[in-house]
Amino acid sequence: MRPIYLDNNATTRTDPAVVAAMLPYFSDQFGNASSSHAFGSEVAGAVKQARKSLQALLGAAFDQEIVFTSGGTESDNAAILSALDTQDGRDEIVTTSVEHPAILSLLEHLEKDRGIRVHFVGVDSRGQLDIEAYRRALGPRTAIASVMWANNETGTLFPVEPLAELAHSIGALFHTDAVQAVGKIAINLKTTEIDMLSLSGHKLHGPKGIGALYVRKGVKFSPFIRGGPQERRRRGGTENVPAIVGLGKAAELAMGHIEEELPRVEALRDCLEQGIRDHVGHCIVIGDTENRLPNTASIAFEHLEGEAILHHLNRAGIAASLGSACASGSMEPSHVLRAMNVPAAALRGAIRFSLSRENTVEEIDRLLQALPEIIVKLRGLSPAWQQRQGAPLADPPCPTELAL
Ligand code: PLP
Repeated sequence: MRPIYLDNNATTRTDPAVVAAMLPYFSDQFGNASSSHAFGSEVAGAVKQARKSLQALLGAAFDQEIVFTSGGTESDNAAILSALDTQDGRDEIVTTSVEHPAILSLLEHLEKDRGIRVHFVGVDSRGQLDIEAYRRALGPRTAIASVMWANNETGTLFPVEPLAELAHSIGALFHTDAVQAVGKIAINLKTTEIDMLSLSGHKLHGPKGIGALYVRKGVKFSPFIRGGPQERRRRGGTENVPAIVGLGKAAELAMGHIEEELPRVEALRDCLEQGIRDHVGHCIVIGDTENRLPNTASIAFEHLEGEAILHHLNRAGIAASLGSACASGSMEPSHVLRAMNVPAAALRGAIRFSLSRENTVEEIDRLLQALPEIIVKLRGLSPAWQQRQGAPLADPPCPTELAL
């Protein structure tokens, strides 16, 4: 049976139309976009077209506001480090406690090794930002506030537009890590005060290793990667033309799908959640269910280990993930769920199902057939669950069941 892929916040399948658009740029169209002869100018035209496709997807005012990078991580690093270089007399950063490691580990490094003061604003039990604490954290020394648009684990959407206005009211820049939001919700940067935005190709059916940083016209920028004059001197290095063309195509496709496909994906996600609620008791839907990405369902199963659930789902041909792809492999509960104060009984049993436009009703039906059986079986082996039921403890679980 065809495997079911429900881990689209980790990465998406590269759309076949994206692959087709990229292929000529590995062969006949091999020129360097900076060359002045025909080989170069043809390729430069394709890069320009990709920039325009991203401009359209983001609702940016100018295509020159798009700087191609190697992905979300580089874009995040470039935005923060640029602000520290360009915002004279300002050396503090405001962010949230639930950012992706692409932001968090950079900020931890800046704190530890460069003495930069970072304010980590907390979230409530829905994963929603404490706006008052954010307001209090901003001050005359804030160089930049960086708040993700959508959380990768729970899908919770942050109100980045008013947060950008608050940052501007005290003279700070505002950056958003929109890696999970771009292509999943409509974005119109022209109507916002956002200064910089990060995105990544492989989250929207584009290739891996390519992304972009939007830098609003007029915002001072100091390059993270210095070298040649590429990208208007904002990112040195010969352009990765096939990947840029692929990202442009992915943006074009995403534009076409936002209105039609995403409501369908959202309906599928809601059906998955309802089915789990109906057939499996004692689980919690994590995140702000009123303000969420349409494709993400984060569900914590009480008294179970997420790793064990994933393992059994995998054996049934279904790919999902623990809270975060980056936390997979570690037995620590994710920093996001801890920041949300998810009850201890559910903390280790969180599974993220993240859908895409490629998922079907039949796939969700198959998941809903397989999952309840898995949960019942694992709960039968869980001493914590049996204690909760008031039942005498069963024999210790068979080691092969738990050996993952
Ligand atoms: N930011 C968020 C919110 C993400 O989910 C990810 C990837 O999971 C990244 C940044 C990193 O992006 P990339 O893999 O393109 O470096």
